[in-house]
Amino acid sequence: MEPLLDTLGRPLETLRLSITDRCNFRCVYCMPKEVFGRDHVFLERKELLSLEELARVAGVFAGLGVRTFRITGGEPLVRRNVEHLVELLDEIPGVEIALTTNGALLEQKAVALARAGLDRVTVSLDSLDDAAFRALNDADFPVQKVLDGIDAAAAAGLPVKVNAVVKRGMNDDGVVALAERFRGTGHVLRFIEYMDVGHTNGWRLDDVVPAAEIVARIGAVWPLEPVGRARPDETAARWRYADGAGEIGVIASVTEPFCGGCSRARLSAEGRLHTCLFALRGHDLRAPLRLGRSDEELAEEIRSIWTRRTDRYSELRTAETAALPKIEMSYIGG
Ligand code: SAM
Repeated sequence: MEPLLDTLGRPLETLRLSITDRCNFRCVYCMPKEVFGRDHVFLERKELLSLEELARVAGVFAGLGVRTFRITGGEPLVRRNVEHLVELLDEIPGVEIALTTNGALLEQKAVALARAGLDRVTVSLDSLDDAAFRALNDADFPVQKVLDGIDAAAAAGLPVKVNAVVKRGMNDDGVVALAERFRGTGHVLRFIEYMDVGHTNGWRLDDVVPAAEIVARIGAVWPLEPVGRARPDETAARWRYADGAGEIGVIASVTEPFCGGCSRARLSAEGRLHTCLFALRGHDLRAPLRLGRSDEELAEEIRSIWTRRTDRYSELRTAETAALPKIEMSYIGG
């Protein structure tokens, strides 16, 4: 199949599916309680794409060349019957199914997800210090439960990656402890630069701990060697421990943006297609879906959106663009 290319020659290869805008955490840098409090209005059930609608759209994307689906949210494991979505996606031939979660419900769901056909899981974990983690997730959720979720996923046969967003003054003092915890476990730990997305009003470049600084801090304790990117669209630059204890990755979306390799499309829980994490407005696919359009008509719509795609926000980011309104991470899922 000829790859579908955008105006910058980037193929459409990965679809991130946000399946809910709700989350059981209130991470202070992502869904602060002042904004996402008791009176916050989340999407109604009928506004969400059903699991069958999600699978149908996913099938159309697969027909256009998508090879990886990543289920996200909100917190995807709070969506009822998420395992069934995995089953439906698994019926699409030749695709990989990944999921990003905060890990809170992973211990109880890991086996069902693996049985349903999930290929791998990424767990977000920003601190190993229990008090700091409870404060960060602002739901008083203990770190041990997330670690138990990681163990359960591994025991169920799922390859695990651990993602830590690093913000200066928030959790950067815990970077070496995270590295120590996951060295030699076979789980790849990745550090992500704090971005100016969602509810990060007042975001400043000073909040970002550059990936190079993280590599230097960890490398000072356990020497690291660079490993090239496996694929051009890989978000993480990989580093290997010289003593053979595995790898870490750093995702330098701010200091070393990688828009040139970005082959990701994002579907919001209500079926809006976003061609960039920073694209405020999406293209509605739910209306055509519910109006009974055929798969070929949906494919044509997506083709015309992708082939017109010009986004490269991270490469164009300035102090001024950083202050513009942004889409919520809990809506689009990272
Ligand atoms: N609830 C799931 C989870 O925790 O992985 C999926 C959705 S969550 C929005 C996806 C990821 O976005 C999490 O790892 C979260 O830490 C990250 N994130 C949220 N706000 C961010 C920001 N301003 N910069 C970088 N990453 C951010």
